[in-house]
This record gives sequence, structure tokens and C-alpha cells, in this order.
Amino acid sequence: MLRNALLWASTNPFMAERLPTYGFVKKATRRFLPGEELSDALTEAERLAADRIATTVTRLGENVDSDAEADAVLHHYLEVLETIRARELPTEISIKPTQLGLDRGVDGARERLLELIQAADGALVWVDMEGSQYVDSTLEMFRAVREKHENVGVCLQAYLHRTVQDLEDLTPLSPTIRLVKGAYKEPPDVAMERKAEVDQNFVRLTSTLLRGRKNGRMGRPVIATHDPRMIGEANRMAHELRLSKDAYEFAMLYGIQSSEQRRLAAGGYGMRVLVSYGNAWFPWYMRRLAERPANIWFVMKQMVG
Ligand SMILES: Cc1cc2nc3c(=O)[nH]c(=O)nc-3n(C[C@H](O)[C@H](O)[C@H](O)COP(=O)(O)OP(=O)(O)OC[C@H]3O[C@@H](n4cnc5c(N)ncnc54)[C@H](O)[C@@H]3O)c2cc1C
Repeated sequence: MLRNALLWASTNPFMAERLPTYGFVKKATRRFLPGEELSDALTEAERLAADRIATTVTRLGENVDSDAEADAVLHHYLEVLETIRARELPTEISIKPTQLGLDRGVDGARERLLELIQAADGALVWVDMEGSQYVDSTLEMFRAVREKHENVGVCLQAYLHRTVQDLEDLTPLSPTIRLVKGAYKEPPDVAMERKAEVDQNFVRLTSTLLRGRKNGRMGRPVIATHDPRMIGEANRMAHELRLSKDAYEFAMLYGIQSSEQRRLAAGGYGMRVLVSYGNAWFPWYMRRLAERPANIWFVMKQMVG
């Protein structure tokens, strides 16, 4: 119930406008968000790189209302790419399609994505997956750009009933996939409700990705989870397939399971941390709390501490 309430709050414009103005709310986000500026995220990227942890950066925000706003997002990320290159960081970028204007049509969003991919000069550009109403258009956009460029990856969500088929349909493109469980509120006919079912599907999809990687039919699979069981299963399957540790990667969110991140990196596994920045953090933060309502206690402590 708490998860549903938090996911409801994540889509509530009134709360998105009011709550972030309170200092204590902002303070509570610091565990998951090193700061609002790109420079805050890149400082953390540098620090993590010293522990052999690569990063992906993303500016928070979704559902822009105009082409001008989508163009501004594009120009921001063009600058990000330039800064990452200048600082020689092991950092990729990840973008929400609705930040690139997907609500205004696939064509404009696709053209902006293409421009970023070309400017990335071979570095991978990631496309996030948002709510289920965007899956068709996001995959349409991904296919179109992947046919022209290799340096693009897309996120797939294990909680969706459709994902096994989506992955099969994408396979002829040798796609680079980031696998997650899924973070949005979805109806039961669209997404699995039971954790056990989602976990089972996650393992099944991980197996498809790793076998595809072994056969040269997939780009680098990114297993994006904090779940030790999913991580253990991925390593077990990769070992059975005799896949080397650098043939796939784990990814986690900044500030979550940090010691496990360092342990995997020290063990020679590919480890990447997604670092967010920006001021539009409210819906994103509500989704993080919904993933683990125990985090609410952490927020309470920050409020009184
Ligand atoms: C790199 C990366 C990119 C992502 N991109 C997307 C995307 O594009 N689209 C999308 O829908 N979702 C995305 N997500 C979010 C994802 O869908 C899940 O909501 C999130 O990763 C939690 O699921 P889990 O696999 O960690 O497993 P869960 O079963 O949710 O959690 C397993 C364990 O991990 C720990 N944990 C998980 N979440 C938290 C948290 N917030 N705080 C503290 N501990 C926690 C807890 O110990 C928990 O018991 C992304 C996640 C990562 C790591």
C-alpha cells in the first residue's frame, strides 16, 4: 500500500512543486543524489573511478512540454558529452525519451537522440525505459537509431509481461541492453505484481542476455539490480557459459549497496553506478522510496537529525 502511495505521489504535480521547496526534503535526498549540478555528479564519478567503478550520469526530469525544452535538454547533454571527454572519465550518459520530447512525437525525439549518438564519438548513449505507455515508441526509436549506430543501448523492464518477446524481437539488431526490474506503477495486465514472478523473469532474461553475449548476438549486457540473488544467479550463469568477467556488467544506483558495488569492482567484475543530478528530482525520489519503503525511516531521521 505504501509503495502505491509513493508511486501515486511520484505523479502528483502539486506535490512535485511544493515538497522540494522544503530544505529538510532536499537534505534527505543527499544519500541518493550527490548534488543538483553536473559538476557534483562528475566529482563523484571521479571518486568512484578510483575504486574501478564506472559511471552513467543522468539529469533528472521527464515529460517536457515543448520542442524548445527538448532542444535545451539535447544541448545540455551535448555539453555533458564534451565535459566527460575533456575530463577523460569512464562515464556514459542515460536519457529519458520523454526528456527528448517523446510526448510530442517519435520523430523529434529520435532526431535528438541521433544527434547525441553521433556526438558521443563511439561512447555508449543509454535510453531509459519509462512507463509502459512509452515502450512501443521507445523501442521504435531505439531500432531506428541502432540500425545506423552501434553506440546506443536501451533499458528493458523484467516486470512487463511483454519483455521476453521484446528481447527476442530486438535480437537480430545485436542490441546492448540494460536489464532492470521496473520502477513504475503498472496495471496487472501489463506488469507482474508478485516479486517472485518478477525475479523469475529477471533470471530468465539475464540468461538470454548472457547466452546471446556468448554467441556474439548481444552487446555488453548490463544487469542493473541491487538484489544479491539476481547478482549471484548472473555470475553463476556466466561462469557456466565461461563468459569472462568483463563480458557483462553490473549496475546500481548511487548510494545504494555501496559496499557491494566496491566488492564487485574489487573482484574484477564490471561495475557501473548511475549518478543522477538536477533539480527535477521529486518523481524520481518517490520511486526510490517506493522501491524500499524502509527508506522512509532514513528520511525521518534526516528530518529530525
Ligand atoms: C543502473 C540502473 C538503471 C535503472 N534504469 C531504470 C529505467 O530506465 N527504467 C526503470 O523502470 N527502472 C530503472 N531502474 C530501477 C529498477 O527498475 C528498480 O526499480 C530498482 O533497481 C530496484 O530493483 P532491484 O533490482 O534493485 O530489486 P528489488 O527487489 O527492488 O530490491 C532488492 C534489494 O535491493 C535493495 N534496494 C533496492 N532498491 C533500493 C532502494 N531504493 N533503496 C535502498 N535499497 C534498495 C534492497 O536491499 C532490496 O531488498 C534502474 C536501476 C538501476 C540500478
